[in-house]
Amino acid sequence: MGGGTIGGWAACFLREAGLSVLLVEAGTLGCGASSRAAGMVRAQGGTEAAVRLGVWSQAFYRGQRERYGVDSGFVETGYYMPCFSEADVATARDRIARQREWGLAAEWVDPDDVDARNPAMAPGRTWGASYYAGDGWVDPPRNVLAYATVLATSGVRVWERTAFTGLVTAGGRVTGVETSRGEVGCSSVVLTGGPRLAAVGAAAGAQRIWSGGTRHQVVVTAAHPGLAADRLPMVFDVASGIYWRPEDGGLLWGMSNPDEPPGEAVDFDQGYFARMRARMAALVPVTAGLGLRRQWAATIDYTPDHLPILGPLLAADGSPVAGAWVAAAGGHGMMWGPGVSRAAADLALAGTTEVVDVTDLGMDRFDSSGRSRLAADPIALPFPAQA
Ligand SMILES: Cc1cc2nc3c(=O)[nH]c(=O)nc-3n(C[C@H](O)[C@H](O)[C@H](O)COP(=O)(O)OP(=O)(O)OC[C@H]3O[C@@H](n4cnc5c(N)ncnc54)[C@H](O)[C@@H]3O)c2cc1C
Repeated sequence: MGGGTIGGWAACFLREAGLSVLLVEAGTLGCGASSRAAGMVRAQGGTEAAVRLGVWSQAFYRGQRERYGVDSGFVETGYYMPCFSEADVATARDRIARQREWGLAAEWVDPDDVDARNPAMAPGRTWGASYYAGDGWVDPPRNVLAYATVLATSGVRVWERTAFTGLVTAGGRVTGVETSRGEVGCSSVVLTGGPRLAAVGAAAGAQRIWSGGTRHQVVVTAAHPGLAADRLPMVFDVASGIYWRPEDGGLLWGMSNPDEPPGEAVDFDQGYFARMRARMAALVPVTAGLGLRRQWAATIDYTPDHLPILGPLLAADGSPVAGAWVAAAGGHGMMWGPGVSRAAADLALAGTTEVVDVTDLGMDRFDSSGRSRLAADPIALPFPAQA
């Protein structure tokens, strides 16, 4: 259910396992967050789950062409997360140590090397950076094209412009779904919906799913020789919630306002952009006064702890609905998407997965106010702090 990257790839994986699969999509494939993303693909996470999902997804992107004959345009450029204070350095070094324990070859880079390896960045500003060479980006529309191709060639039935409107159960087990085209019998269902997943859960008569939506903005500057791809690896300034990468000879950068209230929002917030533009000009001076080639705002999904939701759908009384599974990427559907989809498919097939330990990732980790019992992933955009 849901034809974004999570539902799309999950349907492909379920079909590969031999199931007869129907994908129900209210709009058209990729019409939600998945076609509007910036495409940043980072395995440098702040939790073990984030690292494992990132590593799994990067391996998937690398092997896509050989496996399916199509790919999502994954480019590995390496990703810097600069430090701007002594405290940042201590945090980064501690994080790198844990990431290495989890099998990620993240590194510490000294300030002079950060400057030498980031010619587009203003020199002398950082205290060094954490770095992972395998991080990179995908081309989000190309990713939609990739799973749409696999869906079509593998024989998944796709119903676009068809809304999921309810779940049919008998004795606590799924027996079908209600859609705007009528009822369809099935023995298992994977519910996705990105920023609209909470509404999907409500339609299913479930307990509230704590996955929300909020505005996120991306711009692409005009081309400039100082922004050539070989001068511009990916960078995430976590404290100000800005990240950037090369795009078409210019710089693509994304930003989220921590004071933004939750809710669907697609209008571009010029005031916030102007504030962030000043920060960007301080960090990458050639962007100052540079024209824009594109700008957009779209609703990004988020969870209160910035972690994915993977587990059984819980009915209003808290009991799991047998055969119904929930999958949400918590705003990281490019970097974790294939891993989340694979884990959701595994759960639907066998009730267990080896992609990531899902013991604590279910809907039941949130209390009735949306507070998670897990510590939030510290490497995330400054989404609304409240649920
Ligand atoms: C501007 C922006 C930039 C981003 N940048 C990045 C990035 O750089 N890196 C990264 O990792 N992530 C990024 N993200 C987040 C990423 O795009 C999402 O996490 C991911 O696309 C979520 O995938 P999804 O399939 O869960 O949701 P979606 O792509 O939103 O798909 C959900 C689908 O469900 C459908 N649906 C909803 N309700 C129903 C219903 N009742 N019946 C049937 N269908 C329904 C919708 O129409 C939609 O097509 C970004 C997001 C935005 C908006």
